[in-house]
Amino acid sequence: METKIYKITSPHDEAIKEVGRILEGGGLVAIPTETVYGLAGNALDGETACKIFSAKGRPSDNPLIVHISRFEQWTPLVKHIPDTAKALAEAFWPGPITMILPKSDLVPQAVCGKLDTVAVRMPENEIALAIIESAGVPLAAPSANLSGKPSPTCAEHVIEDMTGRIDAIVDSGDCSVGVESTVLSLVTDVPRVLRPGKITAEMIAEVVGEAEIDDAVFEKLREGQAVSSPGTKYKHYSPEAAVVLVRGDFEKYASYVRENAAEGTVALCFEGEEEKLCVPCVTYGKKNDPASQAKNVFDALRAVDKIGAKKVFARFPESEGMGLAVFNRLLRAAAFNIIEL
Ligand code: AMP
Ligand code: MG
Repeated sequence: METKIYKITSPHDEAIKEVGRILEGGGLVAIPTETVYGLAGNALDGETACKIFSAKGRPSDNPLIVHISRFEQWTPLVKHIPDTAKALAEAFWPGPITMILPKSDLVPQAVCGKLDTVAVRMPENEIALAIIESAGVPLAAPSANLSGKPSPTCAEHVIEDMTGRIDAIVDSGDCSVGVESTVLSLVTDVPRVLRPGKITAEMIAEVVGEAEIDDAVFEKLREGQAVSSPGTKYKHYSPEAAVVLVRGDFEKYASYVRENAAEGTVALCFEGEEEKLCVPCVTYGKKNDPASQAKNVFDALRAVDKIGAKKVFARFPESEGMGLAVFNRLLRAAAFNIIEL
């Protein structure tokens, strides 16, 4: 299949109509959002959802997030919108938070895996909103990477993974947040963060009184453990190289890298640390700046493969606030491999 590329930098670009027509006709288009690029298709059509799973190579029990451009589009997708959900939407939409509620019959089962709930988000990116409007239907859009690879934060990443597999890619530059949305379940007694993102549990608790964080954010699932978010059980964000998260201050980290360096060792460190390390380096943002780390982490995970890394020693990010989102992605990229110094 030939994959068309549209360079779009304004929500008023004429090409948005053409993209809308492809989506309306059941096609797949990778679109920018503020979090990462999404692989979009008509969320109300089960066959289109199946095409999304096969283009990504994604297991069909890992459900898709449905993207809307107006509040009214939410009502028919779910059984009921509780006041907590309304308050959160008011506070954070359009923006990087996804809310899970019991699904209505309108949402095809294929979109939700085997679950009876549906995840919905209204993105902030104006081009994404214009594309949803133009398609005239909510769009199911998982991250536009091949399953298992780091999520795409610029069109080049999508081109690497999706050329020949989908109808079109909209290129509108770098994503401003860089990690996927916060996924929040509202079917539990207390709202529960299943995947951390820019909107933190503390920010959610400020709006609705309380919020908890699912254990799967920090830990590998135990054999037989019930899965609240199917995405957490799969290998994720992985470069070809073996990644190890190294916890300790910079001096200890630098000595650890020196003592354990071999051919193909790469340091995944913070900006400005390169000159003090004795191996090739890739940086992922500034120290003590989770927003800059979030913006750079997926590109850095792709970059280590491009320089032929075999083993990657990654600096340990702060895990507070938005840092938890970065920590969670690196923890999975490292398959939970942590060295404490
Ligand atoms: P992605 O589409 O690649 O951003 O991944 C979407 C994430 O949301 C995955 O981790 C899914 O498992 C999770 N997700 C989507 N829908 C649901 C749902 N109904 N219940 C729980 N988790 C969900
Ligand atoms: Mg994904």
